[in-house]
Amino acid sequence: MSYRICCIGAGYVGGSSMIVMADSCPGLQINVVDHDKQRIDSWNNLMAKDLPIYEPGLDEIHKRVLGKSLFFSTDVELYIKNADMVLITVNTPTKVNGHGAGEAADLTNIELAARTIAEFARGTTIVVERSTIPVRTADVLKGIFRKNSSENIHILSNPEFMAEGSAVQDLIAPDRVLIGGDDQRAIDELAGIYQHWVPSERILRTNLWSAELAKLTANAFLAQRISSVNTIAALCESSGAHIDEVTQAIGADHRIGHNFLRAGPGFGGSCFRKDLLNLVYLCHYFGLPDVANYWRSVLTINDWSRARISELIIKKLFSTLCGKKIVILGFTFKPHTNDIRESPAINICQDFLDEGAMLSIHDPMATIESIHQALSWQSPSSVTFNQDLISSFREADAAVLLTEWPIYLKLDWKLLSSYMRSPAWFFDTRNVLNRAELENYGLNLWSIGFGGIH
Ligand code: NAD
Repeated sequence: MSYRICCIGAGYVGGSSMIVMADSCPGLQINVVDHDKQRIDSWNNLMAKDLPIYEPGLDEIHKRVLGKSLFFSTDVELYIKNADMVLITVNTPTKVNGHGAGEAADLTNIELAARTIAEFARGTTIVVERSTIPVRTADVLKGIFRKNSSENIHILSNPEFMAEGSAVQDLIAPDRVLIGGDDQRAIDELAGIYQHWVPSERILRTNLWSAELAKLTANAFLAQRISSVNTIAALCESSGAHIDEVTQAIGADHRIGHNFLRAGPGFGGSCFRKDLLNLVYLCHYFGLPDVANYWRSVLTINDWSRARISELIIKKLFSTLCGKKIVILGFTFKPHTNDIRESPAINICQDFLDEGAMLSIHDPMATIESIHQALSWQSPSSVTFNQDLISSFREADAAVLLTEWPIYLKLDWKLLSSYMRSPAWFFDTRNVLNRAELENYGLNLWSIGFGGIH
């Protein structure tokens, strides 16, 4: 009989990582389970052009493996019962109530999953933490398994490092796979699965706590670089320097490198904010308030980055947006994903709506329903969703590029500027457009990190 894996959670991580694993390991039987029936139904629909998540290249692999080595189901208990290994990829948002609210991770889903495993797992089972969780969570799991189950359960920590938008590539060729645990045989068993497609030297073995802590801190370091470069972009604008030139020089230093040095309106996505908050909470918990304040400042700068963009746009539009039409280009927190969680676009659009602006929002992948949910506006006419990009520029006072989707790099600026109300403004918060071309067409252009003083 083939080796059976049950993955609890059919979200971004569970869905995409199991699709790639199934493709590389046709000998496995992988069942991805979730309580969310709608999600499971869409993963099961081969004809559906829209999977629950959008990742370039994922649909093709999904078609290849669905019903062969990969299955999706809502029957959580059944597939736990049959599994040799159970992976936990449930969501771990920030706590909103009670002790640690606003910082600590809410582990309700982890605990629920663990209790279900304790009740239904049969025989020797390896349980793998794949969600991002605070260090020492495995202690909680061990407590639940000791009390509720007499079965032989081994716990491993194997955090997922993929990034949305490049998930398929990240999963097929990961920089590293990290496996923490205290049972050598269990570690070898999981490593053996990854070895089907990941070179052995990229599979790192650590103790449980190092693996749990490494994921949170990796995200904190990435978020810190974005916050840092955004402060330098503001300094460039005030001093006449150009962020491109400055980051090129910084990135050329091999100790620093080029990645995560692009200035923008601040980081978003489901992970960085909640993981940084969780790190802050853990630092307090372990009696390190100064360290907590240090990491909190990375978040403070991110909030500042978003607010700075809104404020400067309002100021350039004569400090009033009342009745003005603004075209919003991009709503997802980065291109090549349909995820808008924690996107800077949410705060920036909300600021514009508070000022009385009329927004025409375009995004190639974000759904209208998700944007509706994220924004709260009183008047229904103040937000429109226009899939016809060209016509959305008619009578617009400004356009704001918030996500660098490739489609926006190919727009006919000459035509668009002729549709807009003069003096038309264009705000490039990602610094991706051709400045010379836009200025040629008489558009007022502001690009992040470009100093005006020469
Ligand atoms: P998600 O919200 O997309 O998916 C989580 C899924 O788990 C949901 O479909 C939910 O219905 C399901 N679920 C929750 N509790 C359950 C239970 N008890 N039984 C069955 N199903 C249950 O979340 P995600 O983006 O995939 O993230 C999952 C974890 O991985 C988080 O800890 C996150 O921090 C981490 N992570 C996310 C990313 C990313 O880019 N999204 C990358 C690396 C790590």
